[in-house]
Amino acid sequence: MKEECFIYEGHNENKTAVCKYPELVDQPEFTKTGKPTENGKFKLAALAYKSNQQSPERVRVYEKIKDGIWSYNGVFHLEDAWIEQAEHRKVFKFTLTAVIGEEDDSQPVPTHPNPGRMIPTSVKREVWKRDNGQCAQCGSTANLHFDHIIPWSKGGSSTDIQNIQLLCAAHNLSKSDGIM
Ligand SMILES: [Zn+2]
Repeated sequence: MKEECFIYEGHNENKTAVCKYPELVDQPEFTKTGKPTENGKFKLAALAYKSNQQSPERVRVYEKIKDGIWSYNGVFHLEDAWIEQAEHRKVFKFTLTAVIGEEDDSQPVPTHPNPGRMIPTSVKREVWKRDNGQCAQCGSTANLHFDHIIPWSKGGSSTDIQNIQLLCAAHNLSKSDGIM
């Protein structure tokens, strides 16, 4: 079985009156009531897997293409978790391994208004590999999206890897504002 993995960054604290700049504070492991957050749950699952207590957690990865449109990116195994010191704060990092040939179709793919706009998983994997899991504009590895270089609405292909690139959320949004 062929496997690919990538590093996924954890979730920020929610933006609240007390926490105005979630991108500047440590990513939370526990909620105020002491329950694990998504970060905390992923970390526990990964550590249990590493110590042979359980098989890897199966994670369905969805990507937000734009508001209200999510793309199903396949099933990944959560294999490792650690906390990394970023510039000003601690962030969670997770290793997710795509298990090719083990697509999970037990869950319906979210309905999509324009099926032709969907980028096939095989194309995404090729693009991910080509772009090294980084934004094509700035090299960021956080919150990446698959972007049609020529928009699908303007006749751009969803299946030609030459027409698909990885963009971070900021570059994806700035691009959408211009041409969508
Ligand atoms: Zn970028």
